[in-house]
Amino acid sequence: MSSTSGQPTIFSRIIAREIPATIVAETEHIIAFLDIAPKAPVHVVVTTKDPQFQNVAELAAGNPALLAELVAVAERIAVERTNGQFRLVFNTGAAAGQTVFHVHAHVLGSQEPSDSMG
Ligand code: 5GP
Repeated sequence: MSSTSGQPTIFSRIIAREIPATIVAETEHIIAFLDIAPKAPVHVVVTTKDPQFQNVAELAAGNPALLAELVAVAERIAVERTNGQFRLVFNTGAAAGQTVFHVHAHVLGSQEPSDSMG
């Protein structure tokens, strides 16, 4: 599923609200939603609304400010939803496990925030 094939990716369909997702953050350029098949207690996908970049290397080369915005949103989600310790994963290429060719980061946390933290 390629963003340059003319076919919208599954993420573009989520952004267009054509298919449902649990959206947890949204800015002018970035959207984040719960992964449908979580690999950790906290697993959020953070992606660009613009589908033109297929992976993080393309985004870094083509629009580094947008990459910085994506990382900032990911970090905010991680601080809100984990104990502050998280993994930020960009699968890049099918052989590395990338299945949706619309740049995105996985925010993965092994622990949700403690209730005592309010
Ligand atoms: P990738 O494998 O490309 O790094 O990550 C794609 C992610 O998108 C996977 O973790 C997969 O579970 C998630 N995903 C695929 N389809 C959907 C969907 O329809 N809704 C949501 N919320 N997540 C999806």
